[in-house]
Amino acid sequence: MSADCIFCRVAAGEIPSKIVHEDDDVVAFRDIDPKAPTHVLIIPRRHIGSVNELEDGDAGLVGRIVLVARRIADMDRRTETGYRLVMNTGNDGGQSVHHMHMHVLGGRKLGWPPG
Ligand code: 5GP
Ligand code: ZN
Repeated sequence: MSADCIFCRVAAGEIPSKIVHEDDDVVAFRDIDPKAPTHVLIIPRRHIGSVNELEDGDAGLVGRIVLVARRIADMDRRTETGYRLVMNTGNDGGQSVHHMHMHVLGGRKLGWPPG
């Protein structure tokens, strides 16, 4: 864990958050500044800075993150109306927290292309 990483601190329970799922590998919690009625972030417990740092051995972890995303979409009843999974990466991708995370967004019609 990185002591100065906000999401490592969320995973450790040091920063209160509305957790919707947790297991040995992954934690999911509601975004503090939601951009849609459903806005959940899914993170690996282990500190990984971004998609750029993923290794071949992380394939299972990434698969788990996508399946947890689907479970959250299901929980919030978004699977029929639709939802979006996003992993902002680096500066141009708009990543502001440098602990890899997947956004689950739903509950309204989302624009495309993104801004
Ligand atoms: P990014 O811009 O890196 O793709 O997404 C970071 C997200 O983390 C933003 O949507 C932001 O609102 C959210 N966020 C930042 N700090 C906190 C926090 O302390 N708690 C929670 N729940 N969300 C946070
Ligand atoms: Zn971290």
